[in-house]
Order: sequence, then C-alpha cells, then structure tokens
Amino acid sequence: MYLASAKGNEEENDMNRKTSNDHWREKLSAEEFRVLREKGTERAFSGAYDGETGPGEYVCRGCGELLFDSDAKFDSGSGWPSFTSPIEGTNVLESEDRSHGMLRTEVSCGNCDGHLGHVFSDGPAPGEQRYCINSASLRLNEREE
Ligand code: FE
Repeated sequence: MYLASAKGNEEENDMNRKTSNDHWREKLSAEEFRVLREKGTERAFSGAYDGETGPGEYVCRGCGELLFDSDAKFDSGSGWPSFTSPIEGTNVLESEDRSHGMLRTEVSCGNCDGHLGHVFSDGPAPGEQRYCINSASLRLNEREE
C-alpha cells in the first residue's frame, strides 16, 4: 500500500515537472530557458542589462517576483549585472553550488525556483557582496525619477 502510493507520487511529480517545463518553454525564450530553468550562464558582456544604469526595479523574468533595485546596481566590470544586495525582504534564495569543480553560492528566485546567478564576497564595502546576475533572468521595470 505504501509502495503503491509512493509510486503514484513519483508519477505525479514527473508529470508536474513535464507540465512545468512545457509552461516555461512557452513563456521564455530559448536563452532565458537555458539560464533560468537549466542554470545556464549568458556570455559575459552579452546581456541586455550589463551596462544599464537607469532607475527601476529588477524583477524575475520568469515570474515577476521583485528582486533587485537599480540603487544597489554597480559596475563590477565582470560583464554581468551586479548588485550589492537584493531588495530587503524579497524572496531571493542562496544555496551551495559545487558544479564545474568550484564551490560557489547560487542565487535563485524563491518564488519560481529560477536560476539567477551567483553571489561572491568581493563586492564593494561595506557589505562586500557581489550578486552576479544574468540579464536573461531579469526584467527591469523602469521608474521615473
Ligand atoms: Fe521567479
């Protein structure tokens, strides 16, 4: 009985995953899908927001969750949009990433589980955090200033 039910859940999970992937393939461009859903990384200096300096809020390209404010954006020279911190109280998750033979801290959207980028501790004082985020994972909602 227990086994049958566990198997049922497994099939259900497989189905959710498939439905979910279909949903994302429809909603996202191929590059956005690769980055957000497959933890890809866009080429340095290639993203739409690397050199963006305009004011606004950056939200998740997948689900619209509020993530970063332009006030926290700085030019790190890395080729990716860089922020000193997420907007306070937002649903940004950090987790250990041991892929590619490195130990890094992955940053993802807590709402849709979309991959955003990584955070490093070589950012500007006083916080010294550098949230290195793919443009493909973001959308800028511009604000008038
Ligand atoms: Fe999201």
